[in-house]
Amino acid sequence: MMVIWGWRSHKCGHQTIEGVCPACHAQNLVFTRFVRVFDIFWIPVFPFEKHDHVGCESCGSSYYSENFPGAQEARREGKAPWWSFLGAFIIAGIVALGMFSACQSEAKIHAFKKNPSPGKYFVFKSNDPDLSRHPYVFAKIDHMDGEKMTIGTSALAYSSLSDATRDAKKKSDDLLDSHMQEVMLEDFQKMNIKDVS
Ligand SMILES: [Zn+2]
Repeated sequence: MMVIWGWRSHKCGHQTIEGVCPACHAQNLVFTRFVRVFDIFWIPVFPFEKHDHVGCESCGSSYYSENFPGAQEARREGKAPWWSFLGAFIIAGIVALGMFSACQSEAKIHAFKKNPSPGKYFVFKSNDPDLSRHPYVFAKIDHMDGEKMTIGTSALAYSSLSDATRDAKKKSDDLLDSHMQEVMLEDFQKMNIKDVS
């Protein structure tokens, strides 16, 4: 993906101030603040530079704001506007959401391990060294008998978790190995389960 980023100048403070224009002596000065904002895909992420100036509305002259006592208050007030952090909020939100959903799926897997039930599909990561390149297997719980359970595992192992998860979600029984396996509940609970459908 190509990331489009850059800096833009935004005008964010604009107010009239007390003072006289050194050029034309009109009392018609306006304080303006420009904030340079770093943005990604045109969404402002954070402000990183501000630039103030005082302009005369009568003659169009432009001055450094430091030279005008009347601009001091405006300079103090003019903080970076909230929207210049918009992208930072969005990024923080996405990170929080990602952490939340990781937590949720963690909790779901934990609950499933404690209380597996027949008909459930799940994906686990095999620790068999022969499967190191294709470690993901999806499985279905066929039936349970006290501390023992019978599971059907996919005939093929997958190199990617998302492919295995996709077939598990489809409940693709035709992809299951015809040979069922008996597993002790405590061994099932030690499996590296990655997803529950
Ligand atoms: Zn002027």
